Amino acid sequence: MARHTKIVATLGPASKDPQILETLIRTGVDVVRLNFSHGKAEDHIQLAAEVRRIAARVGRPIGILADLQGPKIRIGKFEEGKIHLETGDLLILDAKCELGNQERVGLDYKDLPGDVSAGNILLLDDGRIVLEVEQVVGHEIFTVVRHGGILSNNKGINRQGGGLSAPALTAKDMDDIKTAAQIGADFLAISFPKSASDMYMARQLMLAAGGRSLTIAKIERVEAVAALEEILDASDGLMVARGDLAVEVGDAAVPALQKRMIRMAREKNKLAITATQMMESMTHSPTPTRAEVSDVANAVLDGTDAVMLSGETAAGEFPVETVEAMARICEEAEKSQPITLDRGFLDRTFTRIDQSIAMASLFAAYHLNVKAVAALTTTGSTALWMSRLNCGIPIFGLTEEPAAQSRMTLFREVFPLLMTDMNNDRDILRRNAEERLLQAGVVAKGDLIVLSYGDKMGQSGGTNTMTIVRVGDLAATKR
Ligand code: PGA
Ligand code: MN
Repeated sequence: MARHTKIVATLGPASKDPQILETLIRTGVDVVRLNFSHGKAEDHIQLAAEVRRIAARVGRPIGILADLQGPKIRIGKFEEGKIHLETGDLLILDAKCELGNQERVGLDYKDLPGDVSAGNILLLDDGRIVLEVEQVVGHEIFTVVRHGGILSNNKGINRQGGGLSAPALTAKDMDDIKTAAQIGADFLAISFPKSASDMYMARQLMLAAGGRSLTIAKIERVEAVAALEEILDASDGLMVARGDLAVEVGDAAVPALQKRMIRMAREKNKLAITATQMMESMTHSPTPTRAEVSDVANAVLDGTDAVMLSGETAAGEFPVETVEAMARICEEAEKSQPITLDRGFLDRTFTRIDQSIAMASLFAAYHLNVKAVAALTTTGSTALWMSRLNCGIPIFGLTEEPAAQSRMTLFREVFPLLMTDMNNDRDILRRNAEERLLQAGVVAKGDLIVLSYGDKMGQSGGTNTMTIVRVGDLAATKR
């Protein structure tokens, strides 16, 4: 209960064992990420089913985030699995090469030679290997190694400054969207979108496949930074995808961008996930570095909804210790954060009744200093709006929709609770809500709470009422 910031953990060989998965979930993972860059559709379907079984057993909702591979441009494979490059070596990226060697390697994106020119800097394996293009001849890109190292199969390629033309959704992504819909993923992350239309297209395909995911735009291209506002308007949230982003815009630009992205997301009532290398050293070490502790804490202070683990939980040696450490850092950072209701909030205008109720509830909750806010919600939207301002009061999203319950897992400060006895009689509804909160042990008799609901529960967008109650008073008068 204490922690407000959510933890997203990528699943992989180090965490897919049911026992470890259960331990991770009990340790504090809120959302699991299925990385569609690896594994087959059946693997993801099975893993999602396992996550749901464990969540039911543990009695806590767990969100599922399906992360599409996107048009990550990759080199092909090597005869020996890898090569060793020295600075000054020559390497040819050859769109027609089948199996690579010390001299040349293939490309999965055959049009890359048309996109690059002499002088371009290509960064491989998240920038670990740096190549400079000398010339392009037909299907061959001649490069000289500026920074060498070990280069192994299928490593990613970025161009410094961005501008590669591969379309955002590949044929594989379109298939994977169907799998994500079949799984009932709560969140769908789109990799390398360049514009709002990439996000609209992904959403259309997802809806057509019968999905109901919230869409997350991974901001990892120079073009996406330039089109941030439109992309956000077309999405339900963003991911500060620092791995690829740092390669494209330069690592030093990322911290300020992270702050700007998170601020903009919150202002637009959207979600934000901060990702990549947050606890990188814990892949092989049981404790984080000081820098990692600061990084996670700073993301919390920036206002991120969630902090994400990638290789640390997917392939690391200490997945459980990593989640433990991350949870501990988040809690401590939250305690240190001053709680002040954003003043700009006073000047806001609303067009929607439900949104006005959400803001009024928050205002009352904050100034009356109540114990909790409870939003009776059908889609989770009321809880989302309430959570966009940092008011320091826990928000309980009470819903009878399992889908709304599991999407609220990502919302900062929001604790989703399933409530099966919604009722159109407002007195009964209020009493049931109180009882659900008491049963969850999050309020006690005598606590003041703010409750928001609609005259007709079950109707999306129907919230039109806010009330302040002292827990227990209703039961005493009505029975
Ligand atoms: P990835 O995305 O892990 O799928 O590459 C996140 C990032 O680029 O930071
Ligand atoms: Mn990426």
